[in-house]
Amino acid sequence: MPTYHYRCKNCGYDFTRVQSFSDAAITTCPNCHEEQVHKVYSVAGVTFKGSGFYHTDSGSGASHS
Ligand SMILES: [Zn+2]
Repeated sequence: MPTYHYRCKNCGYDFTRVQSFSDAAITTCPNCHEEQVHKVYSVAGVTFKGSGFYHTDSGSGASHS
């Protein structure tokens, strides 16, 4: 899920929202409740992209116990 970065033109409030592509863009500021919010940029989901950690213990497959 992409993270969208918004900023309010009215009060300058800066915030991010994790939204799916089908979600509507936020237009109302959660701080001053004015419809002055514009999207700054969107960040592709970098945090949890499935299984990224592969801790392969090279050698015998004996697990720690
Ligand atoms: Zn605002």
